[in-house]
Amino acid sequence: MASVTLRLWQQILAHIREHNESIVQPWFNSLEAVQLDNGVLEIRVASALQKGYLQKQAREAFARAAQTVTGRLVGVRFVSSEGEAVEPRPGGRLAESELYTVPKNDYTFDTFVVGRSNRLAHAACVAVSESPGQAYNPLFIHGSVGLGKTHLMQAVCQEVLRREPTARVLFLTCETFIHHFIEGVEKGDLHNFRYRYRHVDVLVIDDIHFLADRESSQEEFFHTFNTLYQSHKQIILSSDSAPSQIPSLEERLISRFNWGLVARIDRPSYETRVAIVHKKAHLRGLTVPDDVVCFIATKIDSNTRELEGALTKVAGWATINGGIINLELAKQALAESDVGQTQEISIQQIFDAVTSRFSVRLADLQGKKRTKSIAYPRQICMHLARRLTRHSLEEIGGYFGGRDHTTVLHAVRTINQQRSYDAHLQALLEEICHNLGAAGLEQGRYNTEVPG
Ligand code: ADP
Ligand code: MG
Repeated sequence: MASVTLRLWQQILAHIREHNESIVQPWFNSLEAVQLDNGVLEIRVASALQKGYLQKQAREAFARAAQTVTGRLVGVRFVSSEGEAVEPRPGGRLAESELYTVPKNDYTFDTFVVGRSNRLAHAACVAVSESPGQAYNPLFIHGSVGLGKTHLMQAVCQEVLRREPTARVLFLTCETFIHHFIEGVEKGDLHNFRYRYRHVDVLVIDDIHFLADRESSQEEFFHTFNTLYQSHKQIILSSDSAPSQIPSLEERLISRFNWGLVARIDRPSYETRVAIVHKKAHLRGLTVPDDVVCFIATKIDSNTRELEGALTKVAGWATINGGIINLELAKQALAESDVGQTQEISIQQIFDAVTSRFSVRLADLQGKKRTKSIAYPRQICMHLARRLTRHSLEEIGGYFGGRDHTTVLHAVRTINQQRSYDAHLQALLEEICHNLGAAGLEQGRYNTEVPG
C-alpha cells in the first residue's frame, strides 16, 4: 500500500476545482487521501452525508483527476469514519456451524480440470485462495449452468481454510442470503443479520443473479459489500451472466462487481471434456477404456454436469450388466438416455410450479414454518428439485433457506415412499411435471431410483 503525498493530493484537488467547478463544496478542504492501493485511491470523509454526495456527484471527477495527475488508471473509494461500525449483540455472531466447513464433496483444485475455457477463472481462484482480500476483490465468476462455478468457489474455501484454519469463511447461495435478510426484517433483527454478514474474512455468494428484482435485498447487499470491501475482506460471487447482463440489477452493484476481476467460464473443449471424464472416472474408482471416454466426450458437449450424468449412467448400466464398461455398453446406455438433449429444468421453475399449485408463497417454502399446509408443499418441492435437476442435496438445501442436506434427503425419501401408495400424490406429481414441460419424465427419468 502506498501513501499519497500531499503534493499529489493537492494536484488532484486543484484539477477538480479547475475542471469541475460546479461540484466543489467548501468542505472539500477537509477531505483526506488515505492511500493509493492496487489502483484505488481511498479518500476519507467526515460524515456519511458527505460520502453520499461524493459518491453520487463526484466519483467520476475524482477518478478522472487522479488519473490525469498520476498518469495511471485509478479508481476512487470514499470512506467515512462515521456510523459504519456494527457492534455485536448477543446472538449476533455467526454460529460456528454456519461458517464454511469442508464438505464431503471433492470440490477442490486437485479435482478441477483446467482448460482454455476456464483457465482465467481457475487462476484467479487460486490467487485469491493464496491471498484473500488482496489479489482480486471482488472476484466475479460467470458462465452458464454446470460449468464449474460452484466447484471452483468451494475449492477456494477449502484452500483458504487449509492455509488458515481459523479464517471465517462464509459460503452461501444467494437465496439463503435473501432469506436471512427477509427473516431479519420480519423479526426486526437486522442488526444481528448485519453483524453476521459483515464480520467474515471471506464471503462467497453463489448464483448472485437471484438478486435480480429484489430491490431491498440489493440495497442490503450493497452495504454488506461496501463494509467488507473497505476492510479488505474477500468477496467472491458467481452468476449465470456478466454483471451488466443480470436483469434489473442496480447500476451501483454492477459497477462494484466490475471493480475486481470478472472471469467467464466457457463450455469445455473436446480435449477438456476428455480430461474431465478421465478425472471423474478415476475419482469414482471406475475403469473406463479410452474409447468409452472419447465416446462420452463426443456425445455430450453441453456442460460438465451433463458429462458427469452420462458417466453415472454408463457406470449404472455396467453395474446391472456384469460390471464391465465397454463401448458397446456405453452406446446402449446413452442411446436410451435423455442426457445432453433435454432442457434443464431450473429450481426456480419448480418453485413457481409448486407455489402456484398449492397457493403458498415462496418465502413460506424457504421459511421456518412447519404447519402441514407449508411443510408438505415444501417437501414436494425438494423432492422435485432432487428429481428434475442435477443439484446436490446441499445445493437444494441452500435454496430452501439454508437447510441441511439431511433435511432435503428426508423430504425426498418421505415423498418417494408416500407416492408408492398414495395415488393422489402420484397424480399430483405427474401433473406438476407435466406443467413443467417435463412430460415423459414421470415415466422416464422421474421414475428411476432416487440418487443420493
Ligand atoms: P455450476 O456451479 O457452474 O453450475 P458446478 O460447479 O456445480 O457448476 O459443476 C457441475 C459439475 O461439473 C460438478 O460436479 C463439478 O465437479 C463438475 N465440473 C465442472 N467443471 C469441471 C472441471 N473443469 N473439472 C472437473 N469437474 C468439473
Ligand atoms: Mg453452481
